[in-house]
Amino acid sequence: MTSTATGFLKQEHDHAAHNYHPLEVVVEKGEGAWVTDVEGRRYLDCLAAYSAVNFGHGHPALIKAAKDQLDRITLTSRAFHNDQLGPFVEALARLAKKDMVLPMNTGAEAVESAIKIARAWGYRVKGVPANEATIIVMDGNFHGRTTTIISFSNDEQARADFGPFTPGFVSVPYGDVSALAAAIDETTVAVLVEPIQGEAGIVVPPPAYLQAVREITRQHNVLFIADEIQSGLGRTGATFQCDNADVVPDLYLLGKALGGGIVPVSAVVGNADILGVLRPGEHGSTFGGNPLAAAVGRAVVELLETGEMQERARSLGDRLQASLSTLIGRGVLAVRGAGLWAGVDIDPALATGREVCERLMERGVLVKDTHGSTIRFAPPIVASAEDLDFAVEQLEAVLMEL
Ligand code: PLP
Repeated sequence: MTSTATGFLKQEHDHAAHNYHPLEVVVEKGEGAWVTDVEGRRYLDCLAAYSAVNFGHGHPALIKAAKDQLDRITLTSRAFHNDQLGPFVEALARLAKKDMVLPMNTGAEAVESAIKIARAWGYRVKGVPANEATIIVMDGNFHGRTTTIISFSNDEQARADFGPFTPGFVSVPYGDVSALAAAIDETTVAVLVEPIQGEAGIVVPPPAYLQAVREITRQHNVLFIADEIQSGLGRTGATFQCDNADVVPDLYLLGKALGGGIVPVSAVVGNADILGVLRPGEHGSTFGGNPLAAAVGRAVVELLETGEMQERARSLGDRLQASLSTLIGRGVLAVRGAGLWAGVDIDPALATGREVCERLMERGVLVKDTHGSTIRFAPPIVASAEDLDFAVEQLEAVLMEL
């Protein structure tokens, strides 16, 4: 047994697959927006587990929902009904103003499920000839790590040596309405889009883009699938980033914060004319819709129903974006984002994103680089205004050291 940071790092290095390159901090506990490492040092968490901890570490209502359910029952499988799934899916459907929910676990599973649903809808409802369905995706996308999902990624690091790839996807430039319109043909069943591209570096499309996607997909009887796994559930100052753009997609894909940072919970949410294509035996998941996940998911929906989290993300986000923008020209090239979600491009002549993250860690702020020299700020929405000021002051100090 080991209890020092060095010991934990060695255990992971020796026995966990090296598919990540974490910052060298070993977290032991967390509360709200702050975490503490095994040596007792505190850090402001400005990543929030890639937006899975939107409501903060150990949110009392979410922990209570989980603990209460742990004492009752945690897993039944969908071979039987349980008394938590119904209330959860009803509440989530209401929040999204749709009729139906397909509960899954991880984000990638929600994306995979939506691909299957879109294809089945294409064959059974739209009348696309068997096995010819295509789905339009965006250059620079990130939707997860499964073999089918990486098949339509253009990140070579995510794909190299993992082929052969799944056919049936066409990629067009993100934000380019004419390219999207030109790519649609009679085999197109869906357009899959992140309302803001998270992993690509918080890339915000032009203002009317999502509305144009809605218009084009409606005209051509093609499904509009919004992957809100990272952008949704409060992060951008709205329940969905699609709300900010004033559009309603056919399917929402949700994950991350839906599990409150406690359990993996994801979902495809849409109307019965689309989700209803799934018939018993065609799709499933042993853990999807389990009572523990459903209890936590329902508590998450309850937090969002009041609109307070969204409002807080909006007002704190304005403050964060404004103070980060003061660093432009002082080591920062650009700041993008929405709500409490910001991509900060560090001047690559000064440092890599990784170097800046390591220096911020030394100063008590945890963030992570996305691609190259972009770092992402996505603190829990329960962070205080002072917490955010602290984060920006530390970034300013790091930039002055470079
Ligand atoms: N879709 C988007 C937009 C994401 O950002 C992510 C994860 O970062 C995923 C899907 C995949 O989610 P998961 O890692 O839970 O499979």
